[in-house]
Amino acid sequence: MSGATEHESKIDATTFDTKNSDKKKILEGGHWVPCRICEGAFRRIRFTARYCDTCERAFCEGEHGNFAAQSRKGRCTSCGDKALGNIP
Ligand SMILES: [Zn+2]
Ligand SMILES: [Zn+2]
Repeated sequence: MSGATEHESKIDATTFDTKNSDKKKILEGGHWVPCRICEGAFRRIRFTARYCDTCERAFCEGEHGNFAAQSRKGRCTSCGDKALGNIP
């Protein structure tokens, strides 16, 4: 009955689920999930605790998205590119 002793990062390597988005897994479960951009584009698994606030998918910070510490909101490059929309 004592609390879980595994306070180390838990990993959830399942695929993206709209009913249990990466945002939920990270925020509510405290899990690390695979960056969906790495997964989709490079078939590479890289775990992260950052998520995109727009699509609720996980991304690796710096490379595939940016996390604003002040607003505590992240945006993956996939959503960022669409939002910019004015790339020459
Ligand atoms: Zn990535
Ligand atoms: Zn996104």
